Amino acid sequence: MDVRDKLFIGGEWVKPESKGVIEVISPHTEEVIGTVPDASPADIDKAIAAARAAFDDGPWPRMSPEERAEGIKRLSGALQSRAQDIADVISNENGSPSSWSIMGQVFSATMVLDMYAGLASGYTWVDDRTGALGSPVRVLRAPVGVAAGIIPWNVPLFISALKLGPAMAAGCPIVLKPAPETPLDAYLLAEAVIEADLPPGVINIVAAGRETGEHILTHPDVDKVSFTGSTAVGRHIGEVCGGLLKRVTLELGGKSAAIVLDDAELDEATMGNLVMSGLMNNGQVCGAQSRILVSKKRYAEVTEALGAAVGALKVGDPMDAEVQIGPLVAERQRDRVAGYLEAGKSAGARAVVGGGFPEDLPTGWYVEPTVFADVTNDMKIAQEEIFGPVLSVIPYDDEAQAIKIANDSEYGLCGSVWTSDGEHGAAVAAQVRTGVVAINSSMILDFNAPFGGFKQSGIGRELGPEGIAPYTELQTIILPPG
Ligand code: NAP
Ligand code: MG
Repeated sequence: MDVRDKLFIGGEWVKPESKGVIEVISPHTEEVIGTVPDASPADIDKAIAAARAAFDDGPWPRMSPEERAEGIKRLSGALQSRAQDIADVISNENGSPSSWSIMGQVFSATMVLDMYAGLASGYTWVDDRTGALGSPVRVLRAPVGVAAGIIPWNVPLFISALKLGPAMAAGCPIVLKPAPETPLDAYLLAEAVIEADLPPGVINIVAAGRETGEHILTHPDVDKVSFTGSTAVGRHIGEVCGGLLKRVTLELGGKSAAIVLDDAELDEATMGNLVMSGLMNNGQVCGAQSRILVSKKRYAEVTEALGAAVGALKVGDPMDAEVQIGPLVAERQRDRVAGYLEAGKSAGARAVVGGGFPEDLPTGWYVEPTVFADVTNDMKIAQEEIFGPVLSVIPYDDEAQAIKIANDSEYGLCGSVWTSDGEHGAAVAAQVRTGVVAINSSMILDFNAPFGGFKQSGIGRELGPEGIAPYTELQTIILPPG
């Protein structure tokens, strides 16, 4: 049992005002593996006050970008030295297979921090220009102020890094609110923050439930909210922030399509990547390519091969290094996914493999990895984000129709094209209305390039130099004439 009784505020372990406790439950054993304080609004007020003080009077926003880059690097190093511990904690919290979590959950996060450390020193914070009216002008990228990061449970450290990297680079102190399913790894993050010797209040971490989360959004001392999670909650957060004219970035759900072109060579390795693009982290990633579009010509062949590949995946204890698919994060998530399995079957989709619960795993929130064939794009399973190990194979007549089907979605986050002609694949990708499209790869993002959604998949971008801008305000100084 990992029992924590303090919150990380202003660089210190602080006793909570709240008497509430969040229980963390293993999705594999269904047993409580740890508890943390469930912060109250009064605790949040303290965390925001610490961040505010760090912004108004602390050294961090006043340091040079190079000095802040050093701080980001120290944090990355402190996380790297705990990498295996953090990966194990996250696998125990959310069921992420340990074969994936060391890279997907931890090193992905430290690589993002390293990338922002590199960017911080080279970014154009100050741009001196010739003015149009006689005076020279200086355009500054000023820090936006105090930031709040609302974090989901699927890749908690990585998504925290997506907020921490640019906030730290820009000089914005931040309050992170981890999801109640995954607060324990955030305690290891706090330990890394202490080791990195950052000024007090630059990073504050308070786990809390929904009402307290809402309090963060409306707090007048929070200048910017960065949220990753469901579209339903994102829409609400956008409304609240809109009403307050608060800066907000929303990274939301997706229903991404993998377009398999007729010239795609699906050898074993490529098929493994295609399957991974839909099922990584047990299908619990926003960029999951959960729709696979295949021409009628190759439909039978590709569906059969997908069924074989998915049927061969090892399902079970996420701490078993051989396991590729672990349990879903929570009972409610397992039930939600089970509802989609039923919806698929009753709409006429055919389960090539899976479609139910694994019989040999009666304990734990497991769902069989599933491939549905004979799916049409109007079915619920093709329109809604399932967030579980379920792939839908949808037939198309020709390439133009494949692009139409890919775009026939309220979402617009990711996608992929599978082809033996890379340039042609890139031309097809450019017609897909989503934030990222990969050719012959299961990558849903690149740290050096913007990541984010078209349409209902969000507003704003993270990663790359573009990821810094949302943590800044543009300020123009009109210099003395002449
Ligand atoms: P969620 O409800 O969107 O929650 C994400 C984060 O937002 C959590 O920290 C959550 O804390 C917090 N939150 C929720 N309502 C809030 C509010 N009114 N004010 C402030 N914070 C609030 O996601 P979920 O319940 O964990 O998962 C539901 C579905 O979301 C999934 O099935 C999946 O489709 C989608 N999802 C998408 C992503 C993604 O990366 N795009 C990630 C995770 C989940 P509380 O839980 O305490 O409310
Ligand atoms: Mg939740």
